[in-house]
Amino acid sequence: MARQGTVLIVEDEEAIRDLVAFHLESAGFQVLQAADGEEGLRLALETSPDLVLLDLMLPILDGVSMLRALRRQSRVPVIMLTARTEEIGRVRGLELGADDYVGKPFSPRELVARVKAVLRRTDPPTEHLAAGGVEIDVAAHRCYVDGRERELTLTEFGLLQALMERPGQVLTREMLLEKVWGYDYYGDARTVDVHVRHLREKVEAEPSHPRLIATVRGVGYRFAP
Ligand code: CA
Repeated sequence: MARQGTVLIVEDEEAIRDLVAFHLESAGFQVLQAADGEEGLRLALETSPDLVLLDLMLPILDGVSMLRALRRQSRVPVIMLTARTEEIGRVRGLELGADDYVGKPFSPRELVARVKAVLRRTDPPTEHLAAGGVEIDVAAHRCYVDGRERELTLTEFGLLQALMERPGQVLTREMLLEKVWGYDYYGDARTVDVHVRHLREKVEAEPSHPRLIATVRGVGYRFAP
């Protein structure tokens, strides 16, 4: 199945979370879940999902406060879920920076379609990334370090691209497996470590003391030039 990206669902009602997660996963998305606004904010900042589905009424930190806090640090697309369709106008009036609004009850299929529509609208294909002396041309599949071309395998290139698309953010081994190897890949997370080691040998000046791709112990990797 084609990879669609990662969606974080922030919703305190478990039945709705499960229903939405089921439909998103069936459509090829990877799903993360949070049951309150504080956990939702933490996950949104730590895992940098491709989109956040955010319920308005949440314990600890409500949806409006969470979105305000999130917007100080992130432009991740957000679809707000509101209890009643009538609330959409009111919530929209707050100009929170949400990308779409869906009233409850909603049809899961309709919601999945809205998720895809927002992602299409907000996610133009990346063609060129540059940071810390590393440049990658995604279309041409070429990598340069301090102006000199490095030959990367498809997997190494995919890893570097995934990391460079989220500078400063930690990507777990599972996220990298999903992004680089694909949704259906049934692999060992250590596979990621092996390929990161090869990638470092090609792009780092001193592979044993990496200054571009940092290991975040027990979690994953971060591009932090
Ligand atoms: Ca709720």
